[in-house]
Amino acid sequence: MKKTFSLILLFSLLRLVSANAVNSTITSLPFNPSPEPTDTVPYIINAEELAAYNDTIASSPASDLYADWDTETIHYAKFNIDSIRNGTKKITLCGNNSCGYVHPFLGKVTCPFGPHRRYYHFGVDIDLETGDAVAAAFDGKVRIAKKSSSYGNVVVIRHSNGLETYYAHLSKLKVVAGQDVFAGDIIGLGGNTGYSRGSHLHFEVRYLGQPINPFDIISFTEDKLITDTLVINKQTFKYYAKGKPVTNTENCGKLLAGKIYVIKQGDSLSAIAHRYGTTIDLLCKKNGIRTTTVLRLGQKIKI
Ligand SMILES: [Zn+2]
Repeated sequence: MKKTFSLILLFSLLRLVSANAVNSTITSLPFNPSPEPTDTVPYIINAEELAAYNDTIASSPASDLYADWDTETIHYAKFNIDSIRNGTKKITLCGNNSCGYVHPFLGKVTCPFGPHRRYYHFGVDIDLETGDAVAAAFDGKVRIAKKSSSYGNVVVIRHSNGLETYYAHLSKLKVVAGQDVFAGDIIGLGGNTGYSRGSHLHFEVRYLGQPINPFDIISFTEDKLITDTLVINKQTFKYYAKGKPVTNTENCGKLLAGKIYVIKQGDSLSAIAHRYGTTIDLLCKKNGIRTTTVLRLGQKIKI
């Protein structure tokens, strides 16, 4: 038993050493993406399982950039933007066969990427009806296909150029983690699951965990790529800087129009306001109530 434990320790150490080897390769890039040490390595029972796990990472897309292949944790640990310094990295969007970009769903953008009242909207919302088919934007491998409380049914696809695309609030998943997909493959059906205020697709693009503004690479009016290359430098993440909003979020509120909420056990105005991205004052104004008004079960309020 003791011997087995020592073996496990040895293999774990070897794994750490190989992870460091990956990091030193990354250092030779214009900037160091410095992935955070991962705590997602599964519990290793024996050497075969460890070898199989390492094979899974090695055979996953962009394995030279990512330290792990995690099919449970939705977000990969964000790389440190300060590590970019003045470097620039170019990501090719038109790699081997992956220039066949397919728009995930041909619909109207109802909420762009950008600051939105009390939270930052890290994706683009596209209007659809529940049941509409949602397609993979690029070739890749499905990393996440599961239900989450906020994203609802969500699919995350990792692509060979290091980007990851997210498809959230789906009514139905049509893929499983580990599955290879081509651009245009149906990965799920649109819906209204998770924190969603009506059927829509929430679409994100990330690089090593950091959100990218999809408008930097995609025209949502022409449903196509606007560039063959995504430039990653400090400017790419300027949206984090304090100051004026970088996008117009006027339309985000339109999703709320007409929404009627029925009061359930345990509801409070602050919780409802938080969930729907509005404020207690606005809820009171719209419904002619006060902050001190006691909500009745079954009472209908306008959001
Ligand atoms: Zn959204």
